[in-house]
Amino acid sequence: MKSKKILISGASITGPTLAYWLNRYGFEVIVVEKSAELRLGGQNIDVKGPAKAVAQKMGIVEEIRSLNTTEAGIKFVDASDRMLAEFPKGDSMSMTQELEILRGDLVKTLYNHTKDDVSYRFGDHITSLAQTGDVVNVGFASGKKERFDLVISTEGIGSNTRKLAIDSQVKFKYLGLHTAYLTIPKTATDGQWARWHNAPSGIVFMLRPDNYGETRASVTFLADEDQYRDLNIEEQKKALIQRITGAGWQSDRIIEGIGQTKDLYFDRVSQVKASSWSAGRVAIAGDAAWCATPIAGKGTDLAMAGAYILAGELFKADHHEQAFEAYEKKMRAYVEACQKLPPGIPGLVYPTSKFGVAVLNQLVSAVGSKPVKWLIGLFTGSSKSAKDEIELPDYMKQKASD
Ligand SMILES: Cc1cc2nc3c(=O)[nH]c(=O)nc-3n(C[C@H](O)[C@H](O)[C@H](O)COP(=O)(O)OP(=O)(O)OC[C@H]3O[C@@H](n4cnc5c(N)ncnc54)[C@H](O)[C@@H]3O)c2cc1C
Repeated sequence: MKSKKILISGASITGPTLAYWLNRYGFEVIVVEKSAELRLGGQNIDVKGPAKAVAQKMGIVEEIRSLNTTEAGIKFVDASDRMLAEFPKGDSMSMTQELEILRGDLVKTLYNHTKDDVSYRFGDHITSLAQTGDVVNVGFASGKKERFDLVISTEGIGSNTRKLAIDSQVKFKYLGLHTAYLTIPKTATDGQWARWHNAPSGIVFMLRPDNYGETRASVTFLADEDQYRDLNIEEQKKALIQRITGAGWQSDRIIEGIGQTKDLYFDRVSQVKASSWSAGRVAIAGDAAWCATPIAGKGTDLAMAGAYILAGELFKADHHEQAFEAYEKKMRAYVEACQKLPPGIPGLVYPTSKFGVAVLNQLVSAVGSKPVKWLIGLFTGSSKSAKDEIELPDYMKQKASD
């Protein structure tokens, strides 16, 4: 495609990766982010498989390595913090892998590698889209109006731009869980190991060390789909505290952390299933298009691979329709493979009774047996095999040989 002016909405992982490649291919790129600044919350993510391959092509692997979270591995612990099983870094059953980085550090790295060439606008968002045959007229909350050749939403699972452009084609598959991520002060009990604790009434707590002397906490629990819809941040905090009060282990300390934290992220655990990822000149990518949920363990792979392929196809094609079609054709099977979750989620992994937790703890303690490895795979998302990988063409070479 000839040089075009493209608006990307959402500056997390998919947006800046897409901006990087579109800029490299000669497009004019503007990124709008609703938040007043980059949102740097969240836990560790591992950059592996296709995400690592894209990072390699961007020359940022060593930078990612230098930002390692220093996590030694994961331990499953009981209510008295006694270790039931441990999986050191690099173990195929461990959540901790070679390139382990805080989500926020990856967002910052991607932003730093694009901010000089791409125009970022923080604290604004799209409120209207009107497509003519040739352009998209975009209205922003700030009152600004502007024309773009293409608009791509990388706004995550709750994308509003997706709603404006293609919502009728989108369905959510709720997995029965809500999850919260937050940063809390480190205490003497927090070492270099991540700790996973199953509490009764379907709650899983996780505490993980970071490279800034703080602790990253997550709370995941069974809940009805609409139980916590449309809450503001203070209401979310209140609801979370209510849900985990009396849950034992380190819940009192996590409750204190919820009261003070500045970076709470709280949402339903739902997959996004969209029958099409574009409508006219508007497309969606990343969690906005195909959220697989953190349980799948593939969010970063999908985000970075999808951004790379979408940018490459736009570079290669003569028209955006061709590019959007090829992007879907290349990504769809991979997305579907990543969205397939093993049976046992959420029921087995989030037991609701003390008895259920005791059975689960017994199983987890018996490390080594085949069924237990399968079970740990359910906990850590590591039960997916590498067969679900995706080809990342060298678009520069392809274009040169055309
Ligand atoms: C604060 C935060 C913490 C997270 N923590 C974890 C974690 O610990 N573990 C994990 O596995 N996954 C986490 N995720 C999700 C993870 O980032 C994604 O699953 C994955 O990386 C794909 O990213 P994405 O860029 O497609 O979407 P997201 O990471 O969801 O990012 C979407 C971006 O779009 C912005 N946005 C939303 N609506 C609009 C709008 N209308 N206009 C403009 N911008 C908008 C958001 O502020 C955000 O910056 C977190 C996401 C966020 C936002």
